[in-house]
Amino acid sequence: MRTLHDNALGLFADELTHLSTQQQYQAVAVTIKGYYGKQWAATKAQADAKQTKQVYYFSIEFMPGRLMASNLLNLGIKDTVEAGLRELGLDPAAIYAAEVDPGLGNGGLGRLASAFLDSMASVGMAGNGNGIRYQYGLFQQRFVDGYQVELPDDWLREPNMWETRKENRAVIIKYGGQVELRPRANGSLQAIYHNTDDVLAVPYDTPMVGYRTGVVNTMRLWQAESVPGRAHNLADKARVDAITQILYPDDSDSAGRELRLRQEYFFVSAGIQSIMTHFKRFHQELNLLPKFVAIHINDTHPAMAVLELMRILLDEEELDWDEAWRLTVATLSYTNHTLMAEALETWPEAMFAGLLPRLYQIAGEIDRRFRARYRQQYGDLLVNRVAPLGDGQLRMAYLAVIGSHAVNGVAKLHSELLKTRVLKDLYAIFPERFSNQTNGITPRRWVQLADEPLAQLIDSKIGQPWRRDPMLLRRLSQYENNDEFLMALNAAKLANKQRLAQVIEHQLGLKVNPQAMFDVQIKRLHAYKRQLLHVFGILEAYLALKKGEKRPPRVHVFGAKAAPSYQYAKAVIKLMNAVADMVNHDPAVNQSLQVAFLPNYGVTLAEQIVPAADISEQISLAGTEASGTSNMKLMATGAITLATLDGANIEIRQAAGERAMATFGLTSEQVAFAQQNQSYRAAAQYEADPTLHRIVDMLTDGSIPGVESEGRMIRTELLDYNDSYFVLADFASYVAASRKLDQLWAEPKAWAKLALANIAASGQFSADFTVERYGRDIWQVLPSQPIES
Ligand SMILES: *Cc1c(COP(=O)(O)O)cnc(C)c1O
Repeated sequence: MRTLHDNALGLFADELTHLSTQQQYQAVAVTIKGYYGKQWAATKAQADAKQTKQVYYFSIEFMPGRLMASNLLNLGIKDTVEAGLRELGLDPAAIYAAEVDPGLGNGGLGRLASAFLDSMASVGMAGNGNGIRYQYGLFQQRFVDGYQVELPDDWLREPNMWETRKENRAVIIKYGGQVELRPRANGSLQAIYHNTDDVLAVPYDTPMVGYRTGVVNTMRLWQAESVPGRAHNLADKARVDAITQILYPDDSDSAGRELRLRQEYFFVSAGIQSIMTHFKRFHQELNLLPKFVAIHINDTHPAMAVLELMRILLDEEELDWDEAWRLTVATLSYTNHTLMAEALETWPEAMFAGLLPRLYQIAGEIDRRFRARYRQQYGDLLVNRVAPLGDGQLRMAYLAVIGSHAVNGVAKLHSELLKTRVLKDLYAIFPERFSNQTNGITPRRWVQLADEPLAQLIDSKIGQPWRRDPMLLRRLSQYENNDEFLMALNAAKLANKQRLAQVIEHQLGLKVNPQAMFDVQIKRLHAYKRQLLHVFGILEAYLALKKGEKRPPRVHVFGAKAAPSYQYAKAVIKLMNAVADMVNHDPAVNQSLQVAFLPNYGVTLAEQIVPAADISEQISLAGTEASGTSNMKLMATGAITLATLDGANIEIRQAAGERAMATFGLTSEQVAFAQQNQSYRAAAQYEADPTLHRIVDMLTDGSIPGVESEGRMIRTELLDYNDSYFVLADFASYVAASRKLDQLWAEPKAWAKLALANIAASGQFSADFTVERYGRDIWQVLPSQPIES
């Protein structure tokens, strides 16, 4: 703690206890950097010395969450440091809370990328993140009169204590201009660029500290700046700065905007240039590239890596086409994250050609060769459907599959649906490339850090080895009939619920009953995730209570941001808040029914909500949610899942046992059948079910104050547009499944037993195992032994 004092003096010329909490946080952070700095350098030195194969995970989003507590935990010094802080009269929790949560992502995709970086370091894999240092993260969400209001997320207003600017590693990115191809003496073509618009990419490195491995990997985020020494006016500077200024607040629709295209090329080109520089420091033979480098494309946003790597190998390394292509395919791999055809990214050819003329030429040549190679065997129709260029668009998902040696979905069902629907034609051509890699979470953040009461209870029974190997959680099964343990489990949950109740009261001014069942749905607001179905469930309970029925008390907890331009999702948010208002203020029901919609959902809020959940709502329309990961976090802390047979829910059910999950709803086959045969009639559901009829009417008849236009919009979607996400079709079975949980709640031990079944089965969803499988099946890298242990 001596160094902490010195750091406080050095940074702020004052005693630790005189500093603001933010300043204390900074002093502690500098002290922690002292602990891992050597390990960070040693990890790099060792990788260079041993020539370890490097994995580069390219992702347009990362959501690491706050890093201080996680760094301390992973370094193995959390308890010691906390004790030291307390001795000095400081509150560790308050210091942790002074850290800004970097919201450099929208949701699951970005969180997964960060979980993978944590896991790669924790299993001793050489894994690097490559992304964008957005100046503003995902908007901060407020509710005003029940409406979502978006405020800028100025997350860098306080110094970011973990990042290091690496000016000496900056590279130049070229946009626009013209390309001239000039024949070289050896017959190859030299690409000469004229009138390009150049931008400097400066890397900022953040350490990814492995869990007690001594490994510290790197997340590299790039910032756009003007190239020094070139004349620039203010307008130019603003145009350059814009490239890394904002995160697109939409992860599911390819907003066809040029700025997004610029962003994608920016971090892809910067990443590949820096990989090549590093590779060439150690190797002269380019054909060794796939032996030492794996580049992973997280969803299609970095898919132009196929084109950029080709460009560098062809134009700068002067390889011939076939060799460049062989190396590119062998180096790249691609994960698909969506089943929605409309969410597959495409770029208008004209826009792409204007911004990236050389890449467009290369895309054209890949397209030409692809068609020539496969036309005979598979026919014009099939080849036309999936060639990189079609309908005037460059189709990034198809390009990614064609240019990668491995393609995967993120849960068993999703991977099957890729092969049979979304990427069916490419599966016909490249069946050997496809695999499934079910997503994962980091139990360190979600259990060890977020749920200390549970973690300590587990320690007291099976010791600490589960903290490194979560498969050992299986050993908890021996307590499934141990009343004392089951009651202790319920007590740990109650402690978490009391903590969340305080957050809710502080944020919403709403006092909730911690003894009630906490029914949680936390995720981006999207029609396919069906928060609306959950709202209908609340209205069903409301009507029943109004009629005098008795129900066990429930508190419904929501967290959800809607993309600012997504009007339907915003209407649902307004409805959720209006229903919350109505229910919470109605003394006839609010003893048994409360609704808490916490604003500004993100990793930090998730850490407060997840451990307090009794029920995990995973109610997407079957066949729409690729995997889900909140389902995994929530099961790991003992919530019982109320779910459709979608995404990873199916695997969670398999792991925890059928009884440990409440399932309902149409299967993905039934949905597909109804869609193909157009046999679904939402209006018929509405007419046939009096409760449902009443609930749909409530949207527009003034029963729910303040939702006139939103209620009409939602009703129109349900009845006039035939309910695209089958909310009405699944309503009755949803309510039935939810009512079964009411019955179970009456028996606390039976409940705890199922919670335990979930916790004990959650180990397989650790992202440590996910990255090990990627390493084995896709990247051809093995986890190493811990450096220290
Ligand atoms: C885990 C997580 C998600 C993903 O949730 P899903 O329910 O799987 O969509 C999104 N946002 C945050 C902040 C998360 O922590």
